[in-house]
Amino acid sequence: MTFTAPTTYAEAKALMGTDVETPIGTLHCSGAGLHGVAGTPTEKFSINFHNAKGNVEISWSSRDGWVTLAEAKAKRWTTEWDKLPAQARKLIDLVLGEVLKAYPVDKRSDVNKLLRIAKRRLIKAGKLTLKTCGRCAGSGKYSYCQMHGDTCFGCGGTGKVLPATSDALRAAKK
Ligand SMILES: [Zn+2]
Repeated sequence: MTFTAPTTYAEAKALMGTDVETPIGTLHCSGAGLHGVAGTPTEKFSINFHNAKGNVEISWSSRDGWVTLAEAKAKRWTTEWDKLPAQARKLIDLVLGEVLKAYPVDKRSDVNKLLRIAKRRLIKAGKLTLKTCGRCAGSGKYSYCQMHGDTCFGCGGTGKVLPATSDALRAAKK
């Protein structure tokens, strides 16, 4: 069916289970989500459309209109990036900047993963060393619990943790 922008959440929900023409082809409407309070002027909602494999490819929302998965991922990445402390952003730029530039924003790893990768690179390059875990004082063991035994959560049992971002940044500038 031809897509007509819904004006209420009830209309959005009525599209569920139907095949709808979207800007990237006919897709199955798989779900509608309400953001805000139903039946009020602040009512905002979104609708997901999935392909034959069941993967969501594009969404429509009353706030942003059509958003492809790549656009949504790029937006999420940028939002997370903006939330990172300035030191962390600087560190990632210094160590991984060239690599990052080669990747489209929607294909980039999670920003916190990038931060860990940047620190590990500095360690590999001999500019930075792992720190003794403050939780277990380097023993790798902490108070016993049923699920994890006595493995320390802070370091995963290795007794070592990645250094603070400020230390890594100082090392990266050397
Ligand atoms: Zn530990």
